[in-house]
Amino acid sequence: MARKQIFAGNWKMHNTLAESRDLAEGVIKGLGDLKGREVVFFPSTLHVPEIINIAKNSPVKVGVQNMYYEEQGAFTGENSPVMVKDIGCDYILIGHSERRHVFGETDEMVNSKVKAAYAHGLVPMICVGELLEEREADKSEQVVDSQLRGAFKDISEEQAQKAVVAYEPVWAIGTGKVATPEIAESMHQHVRKVLAEIYSEGTADSIPVLYGGSVKPDNVEGLYAKENIDGALVGGASLKVQSFLDIISVG
Ligand code: PEP
Repeated sequence: MARKQIFAGNWKMHNTLAESRDLAEGVIKGLGDLKGREVVFFPSTLHVPEIINIAKNSPVKVGVQNMYYEEQGAFTGENSPVMVKDIGCDYILIGHSERRHVFGETDEMVNSKVKAAYAHGLVPMICVGELLEEREADKSEQVVDSQLRGAFKDISEEQAQKAVVAYEPVWAIGTGKVATPEIAESMHQHVRKVLAEIYSEGTADSIPVLYGGSVKPDNVEGLYAKENIDGALVGGASLKVQSFLDIISVG
């Protein structure tokens, strides 16, 4: 089944505006034949309009790393789905582990954000993944199962077909401890199994599932060779032009 293949860079809370500009321009300039792959930047929300401008005549898509689910109102410091769409974003990252574990985002909030994304024509890239203690307690599948069911609650099959899922084991994010291709593939199979239970085999087979967690140019090959790994969500290694280009051009 030909699923969309996606390589996304999560720039987190890094870069001055000039550094974000240089990074976007450098990556765009260095892109070779994408072989149908999609490339997405998630810059700081403050830098998004500038990066959208830089990316406008390129194949690169741009998203924001987080948003609130209400359309407008007294929510100081937040950005709404209306604003994210209006500024020209294609993607919205939802439920990143740092949102869940640093800022206390719950499955219910993730679900509200997924609904808001669909209501405003944004593609949700939904992150799931277990903590180290959950893996050690043999609860990884259970955790990912309930995060997926929470995120997709009351989302129609037609809407779900437009989603992207990123499996990001929390113990691998920013730690240099990448999941082995076997561990990642086994969880990606599990993600597909859960999506098939919620929807259907066809829908589960059509949703891209990216791996994230210490992806680097020297480990992406083994991961991307796995059947159920449809690309990568990259943090640290997406902040350097050449390392992100090397990841995008894997295989
Ligand atoms: C991420 O930010 O989603 C991520 C996977 O970070 P890193 O690649 O640095 O582990």
